Amino acid sequence: MKKLSHYRIEEDGPFLPKEIFSQDLCCSGLTPVTAEETCSVKSTPGAGDAFVLQGEYGKCYEVKFTPASGVIAAMNVPTDPRCLAEGESVEGTKMDCDYATQNCFMYVCRSQQDYLVICVSDKTAPISIGERTILQGSDTVGDWFIPTPAGSLNGGDGAFGDHHWSAKQVMENLYDPYLAKYPDYITRTHLGKDQTGQYDMYGYVYTPATYKTTFFLTGGVHANEESAYYSLAKLMQLICDATEEDTMFYPLRQNVRFVVIPVVNVWGVSQDHDRANEEGRKRIRRNGEDVDLNRDFEDVSQQETKNVLAFLKNFLGTVDFAMDFHNSGKENCPLWYNFINYAVNSQVNYKVTNHMYHRLMELGLSEQTPNMEKIPGRYHKASKYLEGRIWNEFGIPTITVEHVVNSTFPDRFSEEGFTLGVETYGNFLIQNALFFIK
Ligand SMILES: [Zn+2]
Repeated sequence: MKKLSHYRIEEDGPFLPKEIFSQDLCCSGLTPVTAEETCSVKSTPGAGDAFVLQGEYGKCYEVKFTPASGVIAAMNVPTDPRCLAEGESVEGTKMDCDYATQNCFMYVCRSQQDYLVICVSDKTAPISIGERTILQGSDTVGDWFIPTPAGSLNGGDGAFGDHHWSAKQVMENLYDPYLAKYPDYITRTHLGKDQTGQYDMYGYVYTPATYKTTFFLTGGVHANEESAYYSLAKLMQLICDATEEDTMFYPLRQNVRFVVIPVVNVWGVSQDHDRANEEGRKRIRRNGEDVDLNRDFEDVSQQETKNVLAFLKNFLGTVDFAMDFHNSGKENCPLWYNFINYAVNSQVNYKVTNHMYHRLMELGLSEQTPNMEKIPGRYHKASKYLEGRIWNEFGIPTITVEHVVNSTFPDRFSEEGFTLGVETYGNFLIQNALFFIK
């Protein structure tokens, strides 16, 4: 049962895909000719059916279907295939989708003349085409949080932390002093041990005297994504210390209860972070049993996963929103779109994403031409992901925010790199919180 009250359709409406499918798009006599690399469509009298849609520049189309609808091929082509003479063909680009097992693909129209062709074996079976507008530079959120330099993660004077710290040290150094400072605001709960039975997991709950909403935040599901879980710690400190003049964090301090698991993969965070090669670092992405915890939320085979879900269950019915903090090394920045569930108050996250994208361009950290394939986001994540499970089972809108740490970005442990992470996650956190408390 999805809690639809969580998303406000009247506000989300313009940002959700608008259904534009019509049987009028159907035409007969087109044969798909696809090979490994190329694909084209040929005019063949008496051949099968296809849906042909003229794309509009800058728009994104989401196509959903069931295997029963018999989609055999889909491509975009530069000229109208309905105008082809008999035997003539036009070459196009194949849509990246396994039509037998996946039920959706996206098509972004990047030119003035672009046609989407979907060849089907049964034109009466259900298929859906939704249209979504891609945000422009001006479609951004109003207030934007730019942190003061947050310190490095290299340890020593002026550092915020040390990326070599174990999970225990992260909590002792970054969370527990605040527990002591604000005993009426923060409580700590022992969640249990990790799968190896050697490391302790903790949850922290930040409860204002009165509050309007509850957020569930997790970090360190992947232990090699350091700037993600250090940013979470930094943001919780900023919230704790916020005073009335702080228009960004004070409303959160006053109105939002935060349920936080600072480090999920406590084993990984407690291992050597200086593993020389990428293979070594990939190992600490996973837990002590070599399981990627962000693929374990369906099987729930690992103790860490069990502890996360057991802790969350104490707050079910009150949690309005969940955020899972990650890093990504992928190229082309507006990756966050990829991880925004469409059921999550889309207007907030799309605007923050768009703002962040333009901010990165301003900083020279993003290409002028984003990877358009990545922009609009998937509308569904499988339950094996923390995000997918929390939405699919509990109906809590959840996003995985991935701050980019690839080689074109400032070093992830430097002050500049870490501060940029705090900015990224911070704006998602602030804007989503304001959405629920306004
Ligand atoms: Zn991750």
